[in-house]
Amino acid sequence: MLDSTPPRSTYSPITLRDLETIPQIAALPAETRLQLSAVARVLPFRVNRYVLDELIDWSAAPDDPIYQLTFPQPGMLAADDLQTVIALLRSGAPAAELEAAVRTIQRGLNPHPAGQITLNVPTMDGRALRGMQHKYRETVLFFPAQGQTCHAYCTYCFRWPQFVGLEDLKFAARESEQLVEYLRRHPVVTDVLVTGGDPLVMRTAALRRTIEPLLEARLPGLTSIRIGTKALAYWPYRFTTDPDADDLLRLFEEVTERGMHLALMVHASHPREFETPAAIAAIRRLRSTGAVLRCQAPLIRRVNDDPRVWAELWRAQVRLGAVPYYMFVERDTGPKEYFKVPLARALAIYADAQRQVSGLARTARGPSMSATPGKVVVDGVLESGGTMHFSLRFLQGRDPAWVGRTFLAEYDERAAWLDELRPAHGAPEFFFQRPLREQQQQR
Ligand SMILES: *Cc1c(COP(=O)(O)O)cnc(C)c1O
Ligand code: SF4
Repeated sequence: MLDSTPPRSTYSPITLRDLETIPQIAALPAETRLQLSAVARVLPFRVNRYVLDELIDWSAAPDDPIYQLTFPQPGMLAADDLQTVIALLRSGAPAAELEAAVRTIQRGLNPHPAGQITLNVPTMDGRALRGMQHKYRETVLFFPAQGQTCHAYCTYCFRWPQFVGLEDLKFAARESEQLVEYLRRHPVVTDVLVTGGDPLVMRTAALRRTIEPLLEARLPGLTSIRIGTKALAYWPYRFTTDPDADDLLRLFEEVTERGMHLALMVHASHPREFETPAAIAAIRRLRSTGAVLRCQAPLIRRVNDDPRVWAELWRAQVRLGAVPYYMFVERDTGPKEYFKVPLARALAIYADAQRQVSGLARTARGPSMSATPGKVVVDGVLESGGTMHFSLRFLQGRDPAWVGRTFLAEYDERAAWLDELRPAHGAPEFFFQRPLREQQQQR
């Protein structure tokens, strides 16, 4: 299968319009195809030939994890929402009517979790810097305007609102000058994380316009440039045979030659993403630039909710010279019910997977929630005062003083997010809730 497909140097997305041109989809019953296209009106859908030909195991679809990762599924919408869209499609309703119904459903899917838009946008000279987020003291996120799509879309993506036009790319920044100036005024920032979408959908020339000013500014505090990407999984040719792949690697070398750390924050959901010749070749080339690959992904039901899958994923990463970094809990947005793994089960999967690997592969922290107050990891379950509790800890805090703080919550087998937990021993609230409310009121 792998060797019969030539390297593809030209990326071309396959979207809802082309759904029927995929032979395996065209072969499905008409009712199933209608359901798929109904869900794809509400949630983003995009794949490409590499995902279709080399990642998805069609003989295992629809249960195949990569199929679940990229293709809309009927269960992602509430039954009545799905029926609404299907009925409109069947009756050939006017586009405006369909659009209005779709928007209503999308707004019901908690499109802006964890106060991302209101809480994390920094200001400079009284102006909001829309293309940046600054939540944790050391790290600024930068969202280059042209990097706000991806080579394929993950069905569980928490950034889905921007891909369906609900968010109007509010994050997008055009100017890296502003970023440099902001960093100059905040020397406490050591890391810039360039993110999206996937900033590596950008041509190298455009990415260079983001990265080069950071190098030329010689900011004394800046130690690390991170680039968040899923290109290794969705389009590894970005690093091998794309026309500007060599130029991209050259840019990465320029960062490391300046004595800075270049981290590729690799979004890696499943070990299969590390098995293709194209992905292996891409990793080899990336490592030759001095870049460090750090891998992270959410734990997703039907995609990777199995300790063996995580153990294999971490082993594959270590074998190829990449570093396991985070296991996230799926965010409370979009089709969350479809993908949800309760915290208790997430912890059990994480712990079981950790036990199966050596210390080199135990570097991923998790299961971690990127919640409004910070990144909170579930460390364990323990008995205290005759009852069961979750032991939790701040890995990152909106207030830096919270980092490393541990706290207890009542054990709850069904809770899947921080706001579904109750403080231990009948306390009215967690220690961070009042200061968080005060911060929110100041805005
Ligand atoms: C995860 C995250 C970071 C980076 O955190 P590290 O623990 O340093 O990897 C920065 N900003 C935001 C908003 C994040 O969610
Ligand atoms: S690669 Fe990342 S940003 Fe893109 S769809 Fe997947 S989760 Fe979302």
